[in-house]
Amino acid sequence: MQLEGIHHISSITADAARNVDFYVRVLGLRMVKKTVNQDDPSVYHLFYADEQGSPGADLTFFEYPGARAGRAGAGMIHTIVLRVGAEASLDFWRLRLADEQVDSERGERSLRFADPEGLGYELIVDESGDAPLAAQSPDVPAEHAIRGFAGVRAYSADPARSASLLRETLGFRADDDADAWEARGARRGGFYAYDAAPEQRGIGGAGTVHHVAWAAYDAEIEAWDERVRAAGSHTSGLVDRYWFRSVYFREPSGVLFELATLGPGFTADEPLETLGQSLVLPPRFESQRAQIEANLTPLPPTRPATVS
Ligand code: ZN
Repeated sequence: MQLEGIHHISSITADAARNVDFYVRVLGLRMVKKTVNQDDPSVYHLFYADEQGSPGADLTFFEYPGARAGRAGAGMIHTIVLRVGAEASLDFWRLRLADEQVDSERGERSLRFADPEGLGYELIVDESGDAPLAAQSPDVPAEHAIRGFAGVRAYSADPARSASLLRETLGFRADDDADAWEARGARRGGFYAYDAAPEQRGIGGAGTVHHVAWAAYDAEIEAWDERVRAAGSHTSGLVDRYWFRSVYFREPSGVLFELATLGPGFTADEPLETLGQSLVLPPRFESQRAQIEANLTPLPPTRPATVS
């Protein structure tokens, strides 16, 4: 069994309207699912990805209106690393973000910035050879489009504690110092790197990552659950998320991991052409649709007008 890199990354927003504007209009991602929190239908769960809604490019946000600003600390992911095609794309994004009053920091082969709520990002030039996972956007030339996940960086007080689970159980491979790991399957790979944790404790809240999900083959998800349990970790057991099936557990450094199946995917309940354009409700909430829709935060356009 092997994991096919990162499946999706889920974070918290206190401001769904600003979140849509930033990820759809500014970053040029496609909203591929607009739904509500399965535990609280008064708030959104928003999904942004490439044109096809592929695992490997899917950023999701839980809306917690009015949530305090969070801060990444030990046991939390602090930076989401995304791929672009070339160094010229780093310059494109530096200028585009500056036009939006978003500060960024250009490295030799990277560009760092934060979303409007402080969630950390880094763009790097893709050298993976993996298929690019890009969306179409009127303001982002195709050659500069974001191409999906490269990896995530987390804070750990003691990364060595995680080594056994990552290597033996999940099949990640490490570089020499075991601070940077890669989950690589037959099709895609994604990295998982640790940085020394800051003194201050982390605070979950707006602008922080809730969990990272790694992609598993559909037929192997039960076996993954058993394998993680056999290694001594407590798991959620199998959870049906409708667009995929999942298992959740905390890795020893404290980061919440999910293993999620590659299928059936976001076209299970909407055609590809109109993904994300209308509100999708879990079947048990369908009878309350009018009331739920009336109470949700109004959102800016979720599909730029010039993309059809
Ligand atoms: Zn998830």
